[in-house]
Amino acid sequence: MLKYDAIEVHFGELWLKGMNRNDFVSRLKHNILDMISATGADIVHNRDRFFIYPKNESGFLEIIESLKNTFGISWFGPVMLAKNSIESILSASNLMFSKDDTVRISASRSYKGTPFNSKDIVSSFMHSGSLNFNLDKNSDKVLHISVMEGETSLCREKIKGLGGLPVGSSGNAIVLLSGGIDSPVSALYAMKRGLKPIYLHVHAFNDNSEAENSKMKDIIKILRKFSPSSKIYFIPSHIFQTATLKIPRKYELVLFRRFLFKIAEEVAEKEDAEVIVTGESLGQVASQTVKNMIASQYGIKRLIFRPLSGFDKAEIISRAKEIGTYDLSIKPYKDVCSIGIKNPSTGMPPDKVSALYEECDISAVISRSLNLSDVI
Ligand code: ATP
Ligand code: MG
Repeated sequence: MLKYDAIEVHFGELWLKGMNRNDFVSRLKHNILDMISATGADIVHNRDRFFIYPKNESGFLEIIESLKNTFGISWFGPVMLAKNSIESILSASNLMFSKDDTVRISASRSYKGTPFNSKDIVSSFMHSGSLNFNLDKNSDKVLHISVMEGETSLCREKIKGLGGLPVGSSGNAIVLLSGGIDSPVSALYAMKRGLKPIYLHVHAFNDNSEAENSKMKDIIKILRKFSPSSKIYFIPSHIFQTATLKIPRKYELVLFRRFLFKIAEEVAEKEDAEVIVTGESLGQVASQTVKNMIASQYGIKRLIFRPLSGFDKAEIISRAKEIGTYDLSIKPYKDVCSIGIKNPSTGMPPDKVSALYEECDISAVISRSLNLSDVI
């Protein structure tokens, strides 16, 4: 295998950020370091990009896999580094292609202090007898040459990044995670907009350890590829279930959703999170009619972010398959009873929910449930 010198990383939407740019760049650097710390690689910031210097070949491969899961990157790729001279650029590129290759040259200069410009680079390729590959401006094999202050990078494989913003740059978010298809996908889109997830899962098991060892563990494992150090709260539902036994079943669903938002708000306070994220999609099921959504979120002061609001179920499913959570989500799971109620009310007025909330003393239910929670 060709010996590359480094991995070049270009920032995603970060160039938009004016004043806050430095915060975003250092957040991205911190996130990358968090992902690749085990490889011992160094990372160096150079204007609009990073260079990562892996210690060995397996480090290269491992880092490339991690970068594929890092938000805030527009593209990255392994590069060879040459001196800022035509000669050095030509000899490095000779190592990168074989005799039979036809290659298009794409050259740019972010540093204008060299005695040659990008046109000179391309024409020197055409006139150089030392090259062992053919140039073809239509070839899909491309050599990207980028002249910077001090050195030039050569890249033959640009890998598309995830785009978006570095996780954490928009602060913390409580992500309501069920065992279903939608919420893991919503977690991904929340991370894409720079939110650092703290997961909250309300379960129907007798004790937390059963939930912690269920498929939820595997779903979290996949989501942690995008944000390695995210916490999760496991909260039992039995106190809620017992407290609401007396109310008509058709009202329980929206009351449960109000309970979810309120308990999320308590956790948000503790975790310094301004946002609550759900996998709701407008009109998808009874709990997600406009009226029931208004009644559920009534009185919540945090921003409720619903990244999937405008998605069709089929779109959500295809994203879930890409991420790898779909097969886990469709596995049988012990759902909280209220979610499966037949014929729930589809238009509950907020006042009605508030009255039931008082009647069942949900505030007390919340503090007792939180006392029984586990944080992992
Ligand atoms: P999902 O596929 O994510 O379960 P859904 O289509 O089944 O979503 P609902 O059951 O109405 O829809 O849940 C809507 C959202 O509420 C979920 O996407 C999730 O964000 C949150 N939620 C539902 N149940 C729970 C739970 N037990 N614990 C934490 N959050 C939950
Ligand atoms: Mg669900």
